[in-house]
This record gives sequence, structure tokens and C-alpha cells, in this order.
Amino acid sequence: MQKIHYGRQDINQADIDAVIDVLRSDFLTQGAVVPAFENAVATYCGVKHGVAVNSATSALHIACLALGVGKGDIVWTTPITFVASANCALYCGANVDFVDIDPDTYNLSVDCLKEKLTKAEQTNTLPKLVIPVHLAGQSCDMAGINELGQKYGFKIIEDASHAIGGLYKDEPIGNCRYSDITVFSFHPVKIITTGEGGMAITSDEQLAKRMRLLRSHGITSDAKDMRPRSPEELWNYQQIALGFNYRMTDIHAALGLSQMQRLDEFVIKRHAIAKRYDQILSCLPVVTPWQHPDSYSSYHLYVIRLKLGEMSQTHRQAYDAMQAACINVNLHYIPVYRQPYYEKMGFSAGYCLEAEQYHKQALSIPMYPMLTDAEQAKVIRVLHEILR
Ligand SMILES: *Cc1c(COP(=O)(O)O)cnc(C)c1O
Repeated sequence: MQKIHYGRQDINQADIDAVIDVLRSDFLTQGAVVPAFENAVATYCGVKHGVAVNSATSALHIACLALGVGKGDIVWTTPITFVASANCALYCGANVDFVDIDPDTYNLSVDCLKEKLTKAEQTNTLPKLVIPVHLAGQSCDMAGINELGQKYGFKIIEDASHAIGGLYKDEPIGNCRYSDITVFSFHPVKIITTGEGGMAITSDEQLAKRMRLLRSHGITSDAKDMRPRSPEELWNYQQIALGFNYRMTDIHAALGLSQMQRLDEFVIKRHAIAKRYDQILSCLPVVTPWQHPDSYSSYHLYVIRLKLGEMSQTHRQAYDAMQAACINVNLHYIPVYRQPYYEKMGFSAGYCLEAEQYHKQALSIPMYPMLTDAEQAKVIRVLHEILR
């Protein structure tokens, strides 16, 4: 039987043709398609600069570095995210800590943030940077987080890996009105794809310039940034910082640029699927994803919470039963600090109670534009059988 996955890409002939065009062209990388893709995303989101890289993980890393995160600094994020949202701080030698989640949106809770900041101020352990994550495509309370950022002096990177195409207060997620930098992922399960890929976007020219430098070995070929040399010596580039090779290829960018043209259509399809789940699952012992009135989600994920007290199966049994029916449900996420690597750093169970409660009940059911009516009907039927 064909497996139904929780998420997958949607590739059409125009996407394939765009990639083939690059393969036949002069430049497979460092050509004109990467800047075209960067412009398309930046324009869509209403920011000045896009810096395309080979993953959102790389984007988070260079975004942290561009904001000056280094040894001994403190970075806070949510425990309910992919590990990359926290790892980026560790790459820079900083320390990570976690802020518990909001019980309704499952995003980083502004109340918990406020409380933790008050305590941190007393112990002189305020964060340099906070990384809110727009879980499942629903924006965090960015106005609330930004206000605290002004008060306590921390920088903000939005991890919008799930959220391109979504809106917050009627404006595109990623416009950086409430943050310094926003990061997107183009992994195939995300909203649009480049295979692997990511982008950091910002309206701050200095941050964009710094991230471009770090993306490509810390090398510049801009004479203004080079150290003066003897006019006799030939220097067409200089390394002025320690960077990486995090570049995106033009092959990947071509796919992304083509996918951008279908972004709104993808999100509309995801909303139609969500609406159907919302209606039909309301009679089951589950909590469907609550939507804040400020939010228009991109619906990367459709996470249900099982009301375990009203059903006979356990979380594990429900998960296994879905898998046995060839429905590849998933769990987004195990709290990051419960990972063995983080427990070795001293974190332990019980650290963020709301996040742990969520993790014991959450299930991501299939959600992607190509999910057919018949497939969705099957998901609903199997859920009824398991949960009733
Ligand atoms: C997918 C994801 C990432 C990492 O994205 P890559 O492009 O695979 O590096 C980071 N943060 C979140 C929240 C994600 O879902």
C-alpha cells in the first residue's frame, strides 16, 4: 500500500524545466539565478535583502554570527522546535536556554518570556538573542516579543522555517517589522522547496552584507572592503573573516524561484485541507490547531492533540496504529532539551511543563498541497477507527 506522508513536495513541469534550463546554462552556481531567487523572496516578504544558503540551519548560523553572538553569550528559544533552532547558538559558542510554550498556539509564550527575563535581569543572565519559531506556520506573538526586546535589549531572529506564505497582523511573515532577521527553510517537507536550502532575509544592509561574507568563506572582492596592497601585486579577492561555504547553487535556486510562483496557491490548498480536518475531527477526542486572530498560517503542519483521558489508546498506540495503516504521522517535536546531547549539558525532564504536556499528546497528521481528497478521507476514517 502507498504510504501517505505527513508532508511532501509538489513539483510540476515548470519546476523541472527551470532546473533543466540552469543545467544547460554556463553557471551551475554563483550565477544570476540565486540573486533572482533572493529578490523574489525578499520582495514577497517586503524586506530589502535576501541571502540564500544551502539550508535553514546554515542561515540560522550566519544570522547568529552577523548579530555578534559569540562565546559566553546567552540565546533563548522554544523547546518545541527542530534542534537546529537551538544548535545554531552552540555553533557560535553561546549558551542556550528554553522558554516554555503557550498552551493554545504551542509557540514560545510571551508570558513565560516576561517572567524569565525578570529573573534573568536579577542574576545578570539576560539573553543577547531570542529565536522565536513560528510552529506549523502560525506566527508567534511578535509584537509582544519585540516589546520585550526593546525593554531588555535582546536581538530577534525569527525561525520561520515553517512559515513562508503566512501572515501576521495582515502582513507577510518575514517582513522583519518585529525582528532583525528572518530565516526560511526550503527542505521538501516545508512550504516551498529547493531540495535542500534556506534563506536569511533582513532590511538591515550591514547584516545582509555580513551574512553574504560568512556564506562564502569570509571572502570579499569588493575593493572598498579590501586591505590596501602594493599596486604592483594582483589581488582580486581577500579573506577578511572566517566564513563557510554555505552557498546555494543556481540549480537549487531555479527550483525555488519556480516554486515561489506557486507559493500562494500552495498555502490556499493547505487551508482547504485544514478546514476539512477542523470540521470533521471536531467530533473526536482531539484538540485541532487553534488559530490566533492575528494569524494567517501557512499550515506547514496540522498538529492534533489527543485527549488521552477520553480514549482507550495511548499516544504511542495511536501513533503505531496510524503507521500500521500506512499513514506516516509524525511528532513535532520532542522538547529539544530532552535530546541526549542537551541532557548531557544539564537539562532534564520537567524543565518546561507545558512543552512536555504538549509532547505527550501531539500528532502531526498528513498536510501537503498534493494530498488528495481520497487520501484525506482515509486519514479521517482511520483516525475515527482509532480514536472513537
Ligand atoms: C526544518 C527546520 C529547520 C532546519 O531547516 P533545514 O533547511 O533542514 O536546515 C530549522 N528550524 C525549524 C523550525 C525547522 O522546521
